[in-house]
Order: sequence, then structure tokens, then C-alpha cells
Amino acid sequence: TAFSQLGLAEQFLRATKELGYETATPIQARAIPLVLAGQDLIGCAQTGTGKTAAFTLPMLDRLMQTLPAKTQNEQEPARTVDSRTGKNKGRRPRGARPKPRPLRALILSPTRELAAQIEESLKRYGKHTPLRQTVVYGGVGQHSQVKAMRHGVDALVATPGRLLDLMNQGHIDLSRVEILVFDEADQMLDMGFLPDLKRIVSKVPEQRQTLMFSATMPDAIRKLAQQWLKNPEAVQV
Ligand code: AMP
Repeated sequence: TAFSQLGLAEQFLRATKELGYETATPIQARAIPLVLAGQDLIGCAQTGTGKTAAFTLPMLDRLMQTLPAKTQNEQEPARTVDSRTGKNKGRRPRGARPKPRPLRALILSPTRELAAQIEESLKRYGKHTPLRQTVVYGGVGQHSQVKAMRHGVDALVATPGRLLDLMNQGHIDLSRVEILVFDEADQMLDMGFLPDLKRIVSKVPEQRQTLMFSATMPDAIRKLAQQWLKNPEAVQV
């Protein structure tokens, strides 16, 4: 299937073309139109099948569709300008601080390696958009991660433990998340992340789109999908 048939916006077709992708892989052909339509999805797929592009491309497309016009051109609020000299006083008018853009997409991953890879994909596929993404994971200092969050990000990739740490310290707010993705859900359960995942899900709005990917589909995963996804489409590769 050609990417151009899947309903993606032009800037994503351009990005995939520049990466040399000629046709969509089977999971991409199945998943992209469903995710673009706002469907919840449970995908059974191994890495190497093009799974990451299957969810990141339509996710970025949806984030672009609802990006406030102002953010699209990266506008800053007007600063105070002296009317006689025309000099910029370098201060914003009172109360006109730039609104930090809310976090609207959250991707959970079991390991920092995978999390970093997904963030790389977001960067590559979102190259022609003004969307911002970052990644947080444990095992390294949190300072630069906190700074990146403060800057404002549209999409965050995270391992569950570090995400909770930063949430508990007030550095990350999930109350505006529109799209929630579980990648390698089976591995997250095997690593004992279920209690963390439950806490995280309880902080994400009920009204959201949820995608879950897993290499295997044990009962525990099916049960979680039933709880956390709404009428999900199943995609198998
Ligand atoms: P993933 O399973 O998403 O981690 O993708 C595995 C590898 O395949 C990555 O290096 C991608 O850059 C590449 N890839 C993903 N989709 C395509 C495609 N449609 N055509 C060619 N390469 C792709």
C-alpha cells in the first residue's frame, strides 16, 4: 500500500518519502487509517514490522489537526514596546506569559532504549511540523528532563517509573492528554510495571484515544485492554 492512500497529511508523506519509505508495511496500512479516524486499537506486532511508524505518524497527524493556530507559527505574546522610542522593553505585558503548551500525547515504553528509539521516530516523522517531543527515563539525572518538560512538549515518551517520579514532583501533568499509547505492553507487565501503569492511567482523562501494542496477547493484556480501551479494533501482523 502506498502511504499516500492512508489519509496522512502532506507533511508526513514528505517525511516518509525523504526517509526512502516507498510503501507502507502491513501493520501501517491497517493501523494508520484507524488511528486517524480516532479509533482505539490493540495491535499484536513485533518490533521491526514498522510498528513505531504505524502509531507515531497518525498520532502526530492528529496532534497537528488540533494544534492551536498560534502555536502553529510558534508565536510569542507581544512584548511591551516603548511607544516613543520603539524600544523593546524586554518585558511581557503583565499576565501575558506564554501559555505552556499542554502535553497531549503520552507513549509508555518498558525500557529506556526503546523509549529513546520512539522519540527518535517522533523527531523524524514530525520533521516538517512545529510539534515538540521529549523522552524521560530512569537511570540518569532528571535535571535536563525537567528542563525539557518546562519548555513545553506536545508528545512525551516515558518509562513508567521515571514518569511517576516526575509527576509526583509536579513536573508533569497528564490532565490534557488526548492520546495514550502502550508500547510493548507485555514486556511492561513482565517487568512489574502494572501498579505504575494503573497510577498513570488514573491521571489521564477518560476521554482519550488509547493504543496498545504487544508482541504477545496473554490474558493479562486482554484484560487490561478491556479496561483501558474503548471498542478497540484488533490489528494482527
Ligand atoms: P519499527 O518496527 O517501527 O521499529 O521499524 C523498524 C525499521 O523499519 C525502522 O528502522 C524504520 O525506520 C523502518 N521502516 C518503518 N516503516 C517503513 C516503511 N514503510 N518502509 C521502509 N522502512 C520502514
